[in-house]
Amino acid sequence: MNSRPKTVAIVGGGPVGLAAAAHALERGLIPIVLEAGPEVGHAVRQWEHVRMFSPWEYNVDKACGRLLNEAGWNSPDPKQNPTGGELVERYLAPLQQRTPLAAHIKTSSRVTAISRVGFDKMKTTGRESVPFEIRYRNGAERTLTADAVIDASGSWFSPNPAGANGLPAIGERDLEDRIFYGMPDVRRRHRNRFAGKTVGVIGSGHSAIGNLIELVRLRDDEPDTRVIWILRGDNPEKAFGGSANDKLAARGELGSTFENYVKSGSLEVVSSFKTTHIGRVGGRLRLGGGSEYTQVLVDELIVSTGFRPDLGPLRELRISLDEAVEAPPALAPLIDPNLHSCGTVRPHGARELAHPEPNFYIVGMKSYGRAPTFLMLTGYEQVRSIVASLAGDIAAAERVGLVLPETGVCSLGPTASESGGCCGGPAKADDNACCAADELAKASGSDGCGCAKT
Ligand SMILES: Cc1cc2nc3c(=O)[nH]c(=O)nc-3n(C[C@H](O)[C@H](O)[C@H](O)COP(=O)(O)OP(=O)(O)OC[C@H]3O[C@@H](n4cnc5c(N)ncnc54)[C@H](O)[C@@H]3O)c2cc1C
Repeated sequence: MNSRPKTVAIVGGGPVGLAAAAHALERGLIPIVLEAGPEVGHAVRQWEHVRMFSPWEYNVDKACGRLLNEAGWNSPDPKQNPTGGELVERYLAPLQQRTPLAAHIKTSSRVTAISRVGFDKMKTTGRESVPFEIRYRNGAERTLTADAVIDASGSWFSPNPAGANGLPAIGERDLEDRIFYGMPDVRRRHRNRFAGKTVGVIGSGHSAIGNLIELVRLRDDEPDTRVIWILRGDNPEKAFGGSANDKLAARGELGSTFENYVKSGSLEVVSSFKTTHIGRVGGRLRLGGGSEYTQVLVDELIVSTGFRPDLGPLRELRISLDEAVEAPPALAPLIDPNLHSCGTVRPHGARELAHPEPNFYIVGMKSYGRAPTFLMLTGYEQVRSIVASLAGDIAAAERVGLVLPETGVCSLGPTASESGGCCGGPAKADDNACCAADELAKASGSDGCGCAKT
């Protein structure tokens, strides 16, 4: 193999995988995108009814934008927030259908395993000089080789379970078909399933909040609907987010709407509930929380407890991941919710995302492992830098030209002060400020950036 890779296999045709392919094309590399679904954006299509909290200006990768513009793209209003469906229809599908990327995408092609040609994981000498072998299923089992691999396969299809210890609750696997994982279209496509029912939602991230807001709105039309928010922690306020301080207004609004619903009693809150068992009682589901006296009965259950990366296909590769977050070790401290909940992560690229296996990278949603705060814009910067590095342009790979919007919420965990604070690093003088951004905001007369010391 040359020292400069030529063919790049990209696992996943979501926003970040397609951005990787567009950058590769621009750099004279040969991308081949393998997408498990029948069309690109297969994961985004599962949440097509959800309005995104970031506007178009943050959702379009620059290299993809250039390809689309050359194809006569009628670009959307940068200030509008698309739904997932609009992101597919106006951006991802045209990339597949109308640009030179078309010749580089294989759909209905699920990658099952990646290794090196003729080398298992144990064998070292000469390893770097052979290409990767990528196994995938497209009807039958197939194989291809590539000089580099970028895994942009997301984590949407490997949701976390209801069980509070990270394992499925006892009985959960047997009742999987009775549980909705992710984000149902509560008021339209899946309306009949939830209208007039007692619905429990487990989780406290953006997806859980989005589900709960939709259920309360469904209840306005269908008054027999009962909404129960089941959270593992003891402080519901942590889920309200940065509200007005969030630079992504739609995300701030989500938190404030939810806060109003909780405070006005529009939904029932069951806090400090750590699901251990799920059983069936007649047609209903009974959730056990560790003791026979702690239980919740629901007709329907939505589990929105986040996602985890599927590491199975990477078993024969030499990868290095943080033991808790399951993100590359250099990235993990920036996004570890044990240290802070700051959604604003400094841009990073090839250097931070490198693995012991040369020319292999995990990017996009999957690169965040189990951490919840990924933004598409971060993924676009990741692949710009990685592709530059693969093409041998180290200066461009090291350069960072991205400024990310602040979340306005960054609660510090117990060890955060040792690790240097969150938004913009530690506060310099004000002991009451949780980070530099908070200190600055307070000094300029506002209430602060919205972060809270925990
Ligand atoms: C409801 C929701 C709303 C969001 N809103 C925003 C927002 O407003 N702004 C923002 O910046 N971010 C948002 N995000 C976060 C994130 O940017 C998106 O999840 C985004 O889709 C991640 O892009 P990705 O390309 O990394 O992964 P995905 O979009 O998940 O794409 C991965 C692709 O890989 C495919 N795949 C999976 N496994 C395999 C395999 N083994 N072989 C081949 N293909 C495979 C999947 O089918 C999928 O098409 C949101 C996320 C969710 C869930």
